Amino acid sequence: MKKITIGVLGFQGDIEENVAAAKQAMDELGVKGSVELVRYPDEIERVDGIVLPGGESTVQSSLAAIQSSLPALKKRIADGMPVLGTCAGMIMLSKRAFDRVVGETKQKTIGNLDVTVERNAFGRQNDSFEADLTIDALGKAPFKGVFIRAPAVSEAGKDVEVIARHANKIVAVRQKNIIGTAFHPELAGDARMHRQFVKMVLDYKRAGD
Ligand code: GLN
Repeated sequence: MKKITIGVLGFQGDIEENVAAAKQAMDELGVKGSVELVRYPDEIERVDGIVLPGGESTVQSSLAAIQSSLPALKKRIADGMPVLGTCAGMIMLSKRAFDRVVGETKQKTIGNLDVTVERNAFGRQNDSFEADLTIDALGKAPFKGVFIRAPAVSEAGKDVEVIARHANKIVAVRQKNIIGTAFHPELAGDARMHRQFVKMVLDYKRAGD
């Protein structure tokens, strides 16, 4: 079987948790390879798939913009490299973002995911919660959604498939090689979402060789 290299964008947020979840997913699937922190364009060039962690999207996008990493990410994702963006990571991927309190945030995003994201859609820090989600692509057992100052998708383009909803809001989407979740699958103690992503990376790697 092919070896794959998964990158986790390493500017800010729950980076180590995503490294651990990606490694667990690879182990469970018997996939060989490594999981590495990436920040700069030359590092982004070398991976077969990338995870954008949760955290604070304004901080992440400012740091990524300073390092010219946003265009590097945009190009690789447009070329088909699989990406999993969780929470702030989904905001980073979105075409448009606004905050329900402060309005349009004008933060720089990567922009490949054709959605509008409402930041802090469930309220602020003390409105963080967990909820069981039904996600058909992950099988019958519910998936524990960990929502921390979570966004929601308020508008989705025609190529965007809704894969989970909660409280009448869209909380996970897929658009070809892009998965975005409003919650934190890396904190669920359940690697099924990362397994889904690892399978996409494996297919991408196979197709490229
Ligand atoms: N509210 C954060 C943001 O807008 C996202 C929260 C998270 O990633 N847990 O960037």
